[in-house]
Amino acid sequence: MCSIIGYTGINSAAPILVNGLKRMEYRGYDSVGIATCSNNRILIKKGVGKVIEVNNNEKLDSLPGNIGIGHTRWATHGKVTETNAHPHSSSSGSLAVVHNGIIENFERLKQNLKEKGYTFKSETDTEIISNLLQENFEQTKDIKKSIIRTVSQLEGNYAFVVIFKDGTLCAARFHEPLIVGIGKHNDYFISSDVLGFIEQTDDAIYINNAEFVLINSSGIQTFDFNGNLIQHQITKVSKEFADVYKGDYAHFTLKEISEQPETIIKAGEKTRDELDTIIDFVKHAKSLYITGSGTSYNAALVAKYLLLKYAKIKIEPIISSELQFSPDSLDTNSVLIALSQSGESADVLEAVELAKKSNAKILSIVNIMTSSLVQLSSVVVGMNCGPEIGVAATKSFTSQLSILYKITNQICGGTLELDFDKVSNSMSEILSDHSKIKEVAKKLKSVSDIYVLGRGIHFPIASEASLKLKELTYIHAEGIPGGELKHGPLALMTPNVYVIIINPNDSTYEDTLNSAREIKAREAKIIGISDRKSDVYDYWIKIPTINEALYPLIEILPIQLLAYYSAVEKEEDPDYPRNLAKSVTVK
Ligand code: GLU
Repeated sequence: MCSIIGYTGINSAAPILVNGLKRMEYRGYDSVGIATCSNNRILIKKGVGKVIEVNNNEKLDSLPGNIGIGHTRWATHGKVTETNAHPHSSSSGSLAVVHNGIIENFERLKQNLKEKGYTFKSETDTEIISNLLQENFEQTKDIKKSIIRTVSQLEGNYAFVVIFKDGTLCAARFHEPLIVGIGKHNDYFISSDVLGFIEQTDDAIYINNAEFVLINSSGIQTFDFNGNLIQHQITKVSKEFADVYKGDYAHFTLKEISEQPETIIKAGEKTRDELDTIIDFVKHAKSLYITGSGTSYNAALVAKYLLLKYAKIKIEPIISSELQFSPDSLDTNSVLIALSQSGESADVLEAVELAKKSNAKILSIVNIMTSSLVQLSSVVVGMNCGPEIGVAATKSFTSQLSILYKITNQICGGTLELDFDKVSNSMSEILSDHSKIKEVAKKLKSVSDIYVLGRGIHFPIASEASLKLKELTYIHAEGIPGGELKHGPLALMTPNVYVIIINPNDSTYEDTLNSAREIKAREAKIIGISDRKSDVYDYWIKIPTINEALYPLIEILPIQLLAYYSAVEKEEDPDYPRNLAKSVTVK
């Protein structure tokens, strides 16, 4: 959650930091702030709101100095206020810190520091890092030693960047992302994501977990938490990461929905050998699990239906945050497939760490190939769908499905008749005309409950559809497995309720149409997603006819669009839903 950034070099730091933060705003965005170092003084400006708003009001980018740090906050400890916004200076003002993550033992550390006379302005856990650093620096008179002492006192997952009054920039990483950009003119960038500096340089150093960097007039040095010097290679950042502009699209979300005819084809393409290795593991695993959070978990549910029906392979989906409650089910013979767009989701990483302790084999399907999940996995297949900026996952979902389909198809000897050109054309057909979806979105504007019904493999798609509606429209939405209708949800069907029926013309068609009739009899409004027209539907959103196994790949698209247009109708920002952030890097 949140983004941290730092800069030191010959240029004015503040405009570079503000620009980098704008690019990373998708990570978390309730408040923002900058600190720079000028004439041996630390200057701070911050405020609540989007980067652009706070910058307009506070003129963050006018702070003087060639060294600075910045932050967009996603509050975990303390309300969303200007005081709690980062950066946080230490009691004496000799340094300032920006921080991503949570310090779990902050209350005890805060109490100790208070007893020693340190003062605290905010409610955050972050401010204890500032004061601990000050205390350790005063005791050791050495920046490197003060960082080593401080990290040994902190518990929890974190990354922080700190500027000292003397112009030294440091950053430490513990289970939260941190990347260094090496500029062309002896300048350095520190960032949660390459997007923070990609406009300035494509040379990067990927800091490992439990390492810190120290940058001063004599250059950059990296150390592990014991103080041993670590040598790092400079990596060229893939240029595709620079493609983070909306182009002619009104929002990133719409752009990303529209990219799916291409991204499903590209999924896994750069990692074909790894895909073959995963297929081999899936075929021979004694016990097979698949884990993810949010949208990735819905993709995991699709995998369960797919592999069982077409490859006769049992795979157990586990919500990542729930794996801790049944870690004993995994052992040396187990294979765990982890799904994550960012590869930084804290719940997924924790699940993987637990599985590793049980000696399970970790395979992963990830979009960001430099992420922590990649480092923890034995084999990694890349989604290869380019940056996904919209907080609600769209193209990464169908990329995950595409890879899971490729795995299943190869194991079952091609019985899925997986023709990606056909899938891609069907997606393009759905995306070619938004008029009907826009018309329905107008109706959903004032609705308070939406249900999405699907049977069999269409149920995980119904769950994903309801997740999109919740995230983008803030309307209560719930997925219902068709057969469960009479066991409860039917009691909720009234004329004010809208129900989306996922009803492609396959073996589930007749039963699902009957469910729609039962709902219609209670006068709820029905939106049918189907290739077959029916009088039961108050609104029919047509999808193309395709081979039975492949409907899940295309039927989510009209609902992604519906959620998007309903958000636009409600004048909500579809790219940045309230209270949510793109990669949930805190537990
Ligand atoms: N725990 C810190 C806070 O509440 C940092 C949260 C974040 O990662 O933005 O301010």
